Amino acid sequence: MSDIEIPESHPRYESLLTRHRIEVGVEKGITSRQGLIAQGRGEAFDYLLGEQTIPSADEAARAAAAHLLLADHPVVSVNGNVAALCPEEIVELAEATDADIEVNLFNRTDERMQTIVDHLREHGADEVKGLTADGRIPGIDHERAKVDADGIGSADVVVVPLEDGDRAAALGEMEKIEIVVDLNPMSRSARVATVPIVDNIVRAVPNVTGHARDLQGAARDELETIVADFDADEALEAAERAIRTGGE
Ligand code: ATP
Repeated sequence: MSDIEIPESHPRYESLLTRHRIEVGVEKGITSRQGLIAQGRGEAFDYLLGEQTIPSADEAARAAAAHLLLADHPVVSVNGNVAALCPEEIVELAEATDADIEVNLFNRTDERMQTIVDHLREHGADEVKGLTADGRIPGIDHERAKVDADGIGSADVVVVPLEDGDRAAALGEMEKIEIVVDLNPMSRSARVATVPIVDNIVRAVPNVTGHARDLQGAARDELETIVADFDADEALEAAERAIRTGGE
């Protein structure tokens, strides 16, 4: 399974490659089997969006970059799908925005946590949080509530790609600024986000990094204007329109 070859000429090459990375992630114990189902759901929405970054998702990525640069303590949360799909890109995003990386799993096992931490280190991460698990997200059942107190627990801005709706809502209740990457504009996670980026994680993460690099020298009030001008409801409506019309 892990050594299939996808011809680059295939019209859906990128999508098949992404699917294949998830298969390999499952084989390596990085991605859970439920992660395969999440991937399938994501692919369906990506297909409807034309497998491209729509303009409203690009605006959201720019607003996300501005939030991250303004943050006191930004954290990028990584689950099994994210680790399998774009580990290097996550490390680059964390570097460009001076953010911590924390592994945060829906189906948490010590073994899978360690496998993902090691995988991220192999892809260039220095420190990876998540193993200490000495903090809790209030209102969530025990295993899924675990976070590092000096990571997500004390972050003011969190990037939560492919987060489940309950936890995204609970993080919002903790008054954190939440940047969600989710291809489904109707998911609960996208709806509770401060900044929902309706785009494939493999495109969205490098795009946020690119915007962060562009905005690196920007004055605080310019970043604050970008943040204030972003309208989450409008972004979700634009994504729904794009889905109905096969892209904007
Ligand atoms: P919610 O609980 O937020 O209402 P859900 O139950 O559908 O939504 P999950 O099944 O936990 O959420 O997570 C899968 C979500 O991740 C889906 O909304 C899917 O569209 C999205 N997703 C899957 N793969 C990707 C990807 N590569 N990039 C961005 N989003 C993705």
